[in-house]
Amino acid sequence: MAAGSDQKGATTLDERVDREGGDPASAADRARAARRDEAVRAAVGQGLLGPGTPVVGLLDVMGIRESAAALGAAFEAVAAPGTPVLHAFAVKATPLVPVLALLREEGIGAEVASPGELALARAAGVPPDRTVLDSPAKTPDELREALAQGIAVNADNPQELARIDALVRSAVPRSPLGIRVNPQVGGGAIEALSTATATSKFGVALRDEGAREWVVRACLDRPWLTRLHAHTGSQGIPLSLMARGVAETYELAEEINARAGRRQIDTLDIGGGLPVNFGSEAASPTYAQYARLLREVVPGLLDGRYGLVTEFGRSLLAKQGTVVARVEYTKSAGGRPVAVTHAGVQVATRTVYAPGAWPLRLAAYDAKGRPKTGPEVVQDVAGPACFAGDLLAEARALPLLEPGDHVAALDTGAYYFAHHYAYNSLPRPGVYGFVPDGSQQVAFATVREPQTPAEIVAESGGARASALTTLRAPERP
Ligand SMILES: *Cc1c(COP(=O)(O)O)cnc(C)c1O
Repeated sequence: MAAGSDQKGATTLDERVDREGGDPASAADRARAARRDEAVRAAVGQGLLGPGTPVVGLLDVMGIRESAAALGAAFEAVAAPGTPVLHAFAVKATPLVPVLALLREEGIGAEVASPGELALARAAGVPPDRTVLDSPAKTPDELREALAQGIAVNADNPQELARIDALVRSAVPRSPLGIRVNPQVGGGAIEALSTATATSKFGVALRDEGAREWVVRACLDRPWLTRLHAHTGSQGIPLSLMARGVAETYELAEEINARAGRRQIDTLDIGGGLPVNFGSEAASPTYAQYARLLREVVPGLLDGRYGLVTEFGRSLLAKQGTVVARVEYTKSAGGRPVAVTHAGVQVATRTVYAPGAWPLRLAAYDAKGRPKTGPEVVQDVAGPACFAGDLLAEARALPLLEPGDHVAALDTGAYYFAHHYAYNSLPRPGVYGFVPDGSQQVAFATVREPQTPAEIVAESGGARASALTTLRAPERP
């Protein structure tokens, strides 16, 4: 049943999806939107979302499984049979243990960039040989630990490689080891996420004077360096630029292998970065499109001579997550209606601080969690934080929101509600996974409990209330 179709003057889900324009939504996209509508209704109906818990994060478990399967199928379709491929989920996109465990069950490993992310991957049961460590600031202890466990490590720079040299001298490494390169193919629409600009902080900048030769030499001198890694950017990077970054990395591997006279570089880690369409329901571009483009631009990458590692984050999870918040009050300011909700900077930090780069689709639901109907009115949708810019959207056309209604920020499964920002000591919302239960109902599982005021006090030095009043400088004689 298309949600809302039972109401007078209602728009059907299909009408809503079509009105967004952009790439046409597939049957899978429409099914995901329908599951989301049902989940919002059920979250309200079952009391996960209510006056006392006015904001939640919802994760579509079927959607996550489908997304993981699409990734696997896309590369299987283009890579020579038998090619070893590890898809390592970039943990930073959704650092939640149950999500990592679900992905693990779908055959996906973990790309980690800190001791915390590594601990999450271990807690989810991701084995070391399906884990890749990539941070630009690994400490000596982190490196030693990773090499002892057999976790793949990509060295970011010459100083880090020197540390690895010392570790390799003291024990034969169990880890596959590589060097991260920056092909410097250029940036995308979002400067902060463009990792392949001339001056990006990541990897060895290949086009800098002498750098390419340094990488080749570094490999020829170290037979245990068997990988090259490049991650040419995230959101805002066109596919063609991503493919060029991969092509440059592949060319470098070919050069190293030719000069070594053997297949020393045996695996290419092509990073993540597939952009997400935040403008409409369509999950585009697809992994299949990107994989086919790679086959066209870099056929040698997929002919079976190289193993592959990928590190997708946002594209696996974004469309599978939704923040839903209650509308607490509505008012009017300067002639514009404003809905004050419980979702703002704490769950949508990038959108609030950089609304031009990170606009989100919003959906309006009524007090019972049913898609809200009625004429659209241009209104601001504000968050709960105490600063004027805390807006989920400015001047957005939506059915006029009323107190007790709900607003959903769509496509927020990656880098949003799992990345809590503790402004105003606003609590981390609960996160729930959902599946249709087969009888028109929705079953939920708690992924993360909502944070309590007592927990906020505890992690804000609550046990040390007198720490500063008792700390005194010695009196001068
Ligand atoms: C952030 C990051 C990723 C994931 O990027 P997405 O845009 O989320 O796919 C992959 N690899 C590295 C090294 C990263 O820093």
